[in-house]
Amino acid sequence: MNKRKLVAGNWKMNGRREWVDSLVRGVRQALTEQPYDVDVAFCPPFPYLFDVGAALSGTALKLGAQDCSERTDGAFTGDISATMLRDMACDYVIIGHSERREFHGETNQLIASKMVAAHKAGLTVIVCVGEKDAKMDATTRNAIVKEQIRQSLCDSADAQNTIIAYEPVWAIGSGLTPTNDDIVTMHGLIAGFLPLSVKGARILYGGSVKADNAATILQLPGVDGALVGGASLKKDDFIKIIAGAG
Ligand code: PEP
Repeated sequence: MNKRKLVAGNWKMNGRREWVDSLVRGVRQALTEQPYDVDVAFCPPFPYLFDVGAALSGTALKLGAQDCSERTDGAFTGDISATMLRDMACDYVIIGHSERREFHGETNQLIASKMVAAHKAGLTVIVCVGEKDAKMDATTRNAIVKEQIRQSLCDSADAQNTIIAYEPVWAIGSGLTPTNDDIVTMHGLIAGFLPLSVKGARILYGGSVKADNAATILQLPGVDGALVGGASLKKDDFIKIIAGAG
């Protein structure tokens, strides 16, 4: 089982061509000079997959996308199939991000269908789960996360092709994070709750991982990496986060 930590940068809807190139080549250069025993993935917006893929070519750095259609190729204007992402040399696809759930009404059932399509195409999914409200009591929070996992995982999920990202929605982009104890407890709960075929899958933490808290969060028991939003857009911060995982 690959339990090397994974640090994945989710750029969301950010980037310009020139900027993309300098960021990716900058990270690439820094990691060539000072490598870490960590898997690293870049998940840019769709239009930049080609450029980022080209900048990563010949390195161990991986490419990922932020979403995929649940459908295979065909008359679905505006959609992007998992097969296309694989064709663009993606290894990963994020599905079920809270911003997709909130702004596109994505349900656990749809996310499970996307997972089927992604696995069929040979992609590893990073499926996001997490409670919305920081004030939620632990029993409710645990029940919500368990239900998201139960309903979002499809039958083809296994410990290699599926990664869980625990992302409390209130922590995303807010500068807030759960306590270390709460992160450890939730990761333990998720690990224990995973069905047999998915047992041992990597469980990432996401939500305001920054250069200054990454090393602490990434060394907590049960934390197998991080899904990083805002801080993945800054070369030095992203490198510090990767170093924190190493
Ligand atoms: C995310 O969007 O997945 C995320 C974790 O964002 P941020 O790191 O900015 O909180």
